[in-house]
Amino acid sequence: MEEQCSIKNILHVEMEIPQNKISKFWEGLKEGKLLATKCKKCARIFFPPTADCPSCYSSDMDWIELNGNAELITWTVIHVAPKSFSEHSPYIIAVAKLEEGPKVMAWLSDVKPEDIKPRMELKLVAKRFYEEKLIYCFTPAHARPLS
Ligand SMILES: [Zn+2]
Repeated sequence: MEEQCSIKNILHVEMEIPQNKISKFWEGLKEGKLLATKCKKCARIFFPPTADCPSCYSSDMDWIELNGNAELITWTVIHVAPKSFSEHSPYIIAVAKLEEGPKVMAWLSDVKPEDIKPRMELKLVAKRFYEEKLIYCFTPAHARPLS
């Protein structure tokens, strides 16, 4: 019988993802603006923005401001949340199609799950997440924010 022999190594991986090419997105968010990138070569629009076009590999991008208008495609209510979000559950995650084309996944706030309707009009907005991080999320287009 052959004896099993092994060496246990723990590998630590550290990554740094440069944000300087899309820093304009974060600056815009602070001012309540939703900025996307548009490929100058193939005209595709990306949100969240990408510095390089994953479609035609061009790095020649324009910045455009989105109007935030979106139509709900699908949603789910999260009851069993990951540990870091457990204090916020239940919460709603939605996928909606922006008027400019891209489909975006984000939190849907200011609405009760029972009031959500397929294809309802939403607005993508910049928002402080529980007074901490700045994020973007969906809110019903014709509802007053609960704030
Ligand atoms: Zn392109």
